[in-house]
Amino acid sequence: MRMYWTLIAGLAVVLPAPGHAQQQTGLVTVAEAMGAASLNSIEFTGSGFVFSFGQAYEPGERWPRFIQRTYSAAINYQTSAMRLVQVRSQGEHPPRGGGAQAVGADQRTVSVVSGKFAWQETDTQATPNNGAALERLRQVWATPHGVIKAATANAGKVDGNTVTVTVEGREFKALLNAQNLVEKVSYLSTNEVVGDYAIEIAYSDYADFGGVKFPRHIVQTEDGHPTLDIIVSDVKPNAAVTIAAPANVREAAPQPLRVGVEKLADGVWYFSTPNARNWAVEFNDHIVVVEGIGSEARSLAAIEEIKKAIPNKPIRYVINTHAHYDHAGGLRTYVAQGATIITHELNKPFFERAWARPRTIAPDSLSKAPKAATFETVSDKKVLTDGSKTIELYHMKGTSHNVANLLVYMPAEKLLFWGDGYNPPAGDDPRDRGRTPEQTIDLYRVITMNNLDVKTIAPAHGFGPKPYDNLKKAIGLIPL
Ligand SMILES: [Zn+2]
Repeated sequence: MRMYWTLIAGLAVVLPAPGHAQQQTGLVTVAEAMGAASLNSIEFTGSGFVFSFGQAYEPGERWPRFIQRTYSAAINYQTSAMRLVQVRSQGEHPPRGGGAQAVGADQRTVSVVSGKFAWQETDTQATPNNGAALERLRQVWATPHGVIKAATANAGKVDGNTVTVTVEGREFKALLNAQNLVEKVSYLSTNEVVGDYAIEIAYSDYADFGGVKFPRHIVQTEDGHPTLDIIVSDVKPNAAVTIAAPANVREAAPQPLRVGVEKLADGVWYFSTPNARNWAVEFNDHIVVVEGIGSEARSLAAIEEIKKAIPNKPIRYVINTHAHYDHAGGLRTYVAQGATIITHELNKPFFERAWARPRTIAPDSLSKAPKAATFETVSDKKVLTDGSKTIELYHMKGTSHNVANLLVYMPAEKLLFWGDGYNPPAGDDPRDRGRTPEQTIDLYRVITMNNLDVKTIAPAHGFGPKPYDNLKKAIGLIPL
């Protein structure tokens, strides 16, 4: 009797589990092939190319390319922590597309995550960025060993040559090669312009580093185009990686989005959040917003202020200077509220395609109450006027930043708004020190070609409003 019940009890435990046991066996085999079981931390360094997501020269085209002089990751899998050091320099000559081209001196960024804390590091300070923690943790679990560790810890499933696991709220798939090495990891991400999109990381050219297999070539694509392509030169398995969030990061409270409001001229208002600015212009019976910049959250906060500055008039139009994601991320909110988009004719088919895509990860107000966007398009020039106010839109032909970029000009007020090209720094020194002046010269050429009499520039990025002479000083036309 005793043996019988023991057997039943044993069966009762084992029977529901053979699938699970097989899964575990499969994962153990993969972990052994990868050398993952005994790997608690890793450092790897490479170099190659990095690309700027959402900053294509032409809507739908590949992302602009930069040189990645250094890509150096230090990961501790046990504490869910990673420090990533990247050094980039200008990659395309002449510049083509956005991403703050043309890069002047090499740019070094240090992005760190440790559990739920995330921050940027410089030599002297840590800037909290806890909102980035989840996406950075996904990067940790998307590494070749990370995905196998995540699958082992989170009841991942093996089906043929595919490992599937849900971690940090997303389903990851890892594809194995014939040697049981991870050759591709993919998961879904989200963006305000295109909605759901795939991140895929291909790992190839594996080598043995002290019993741990690691790829020597890593290619990441986002929404179908490369964002990283590096050759790995150095791998240190089980390097000592200690990453702890500094006190100011641990104690950082989420910052509410505050919109600064400034009057540029009669009936022209300037709305500012960190590094994102737009205008609202009061016409007789409606409002025209210049740039649906940023995100839905940014647009909702701005619209609240726009309605206070210009009460009791509907927002009938929103001008979009170009389709770069930092400029177009907040457009859909205006559409949801009934505004018509004015943009260059090349952008309309891009937005229509992008906005037909699924938005399962981050639904917005337009996806929750869908309606077709209405467009008025510009080819060379368009004038909006009702006698009280006039806005002129010019296609910025032949610029390196974007093929379908509009310049916004108000002739009576001599005011200028543009998508990118010159981001004035704070203070009186007009020089945009992060970049070479190529795109500012492009902008100056468009202004003079169209005989625009500009007095004040109130831009989308950087600081403003600034005197137009600052732009001329920045490109050496007026001495500093
Ligand atoms: Zn741009």
